[in-house]
Amino acid sequence: MKTTRTTYLSKMATELKPSGIRRFFDLAAGMEGVISLGVGEPDFVTPWHIREAAINSLERGFTSYTPNSGILELREEIANYMKTQFHVDYSPKNEIIVTVGASSAIDLAMRTILDPGDEVIVVEPCFVSYVPMVELAGGVAVQVQATKENDFKIMPEQLEVAITPKTKAIMLCSPNNPTGTLLNRAELQAIADLAIQHDLLIIADEIYAELSYDDEEYTSMPAIDGMRDRTILVSGFSKSFAMTGWRLGFVCAPVEISSGMLKVHQYALLCASTMSQYAAVEALRNGRADVEEMVKSYRRRRNFIVHSFNEIGLECHEPGGAFYAFPSIQSTGLSSQQFAEQLLMKEGVAVVPGDVFGASGEGHIRCSYATSLDELQEAVRRIKRFIDSLQDN
Ligand code: PMP
Repeated sequence: MKTTRTTYLSKMATELKPSGIRRFFDLAAGMEGVISLGVGEPDFVTPWHIREAAINSLERGFTSYTPNSGILELREEIANYMKTQFHVDYSPKNEIIVTVGASSAIDLAMRTILDPGDEVIVVEPCFVSYVPMVELAGGVAVQVQATKENDFKIMPEQLEVAITPKTKAIMLCSPNNPTGTLLNRAELQAIADLAIQHDLLIIADEIYAELSYDDEEYTSMPAIDGMRDRTILVSGFSKSFAMTGWRLGFVCAPVEISSGMLKVHQYALLCASTMSQYAAVEALRNGRADVEEMVKSYRRRRNFIVHSFNEIGLECHEPGGAFYAFPSIQSTGLSSQQFAEQLLMKEGVAVVPGDVFGASGEGHIRCSYATSLDELQEAVRRIKRFIDSLQDN
């Protein structure tokens, strides 16, 4: 029988918009001499001893599937890491799942907790995947805007008005991509109080937790009183250990939730890459000094770039973590898309327009400072020239 189908794609896939970040990569890809402040990944190569651990695992013939939740050795190391670095206890037996990057941990969390129509409050500006992941899981993303006036910290009152009987969870990211904003213990506590009061889960994306530069010790959401049992903690190795290509992350959650996640994970992905898991064991056992070195270097670059942006007239709050600066470009009168596009075309500097991260990102650009100081200095020179040229017109 002849069908009248016009597409094989689902409605969901048809309506999904391509990531705004990709568009800029594609534009920059064909150009010579571009300095990219666009990519959200470390400029370091994974430390050699970590790579070597993966090579050793291959030499020893460890090439099969692992348990669905990951090798026990790694889950034990993750439990130890969460305890020593973040003061939270998770059982390696059934509260930790090794995932294919933090990306699959977020996807897994959404697919496990959401029924059709359930709402997740997403704090924007945010990582571009959150809203699509909520929607792909059948949920509804309720976007709440953190603003420049509050250094991109979400105010509890803003969350409170967004809560409805359908709200299941709040999606939080600290330090944040794209703003670099880091929430301190008191700020997390205020959000935790709301979650407890309204019986909500918090999905805490703490992938940048190690890259925090404040003097105050980093606070992990599940370390707040009463939050361990209502937090899905998402983290991974991509950022802190410079391991983006290894595709390795993890998720920690109380057993009721993690056992639900494991059921989804075993069908969707089986397990994470075996050699990456052996590399991650080595990263957690012997990678502390590497992390500290990288953090020192990011802190230096952050100080340079934030100071430079403010000096050339792009107002920029000091980000407490991650490796992004999020300066305002409002003084130029251009939209963030116009600014990014013209800067790329005229001066060969790739940045990401802030609006791709949510409405309150408009008027800003995301600049990753995970690139050498020399390149950052040259980028600032070019950005200044670009801004000056706007004033000359
Ligand atoms: N969360 C945030 C906030 C991120 O910025 C990223 C990567 N850009 C991810 C998750 C995904 O990380 P992974 O490489 O571990 O999938």
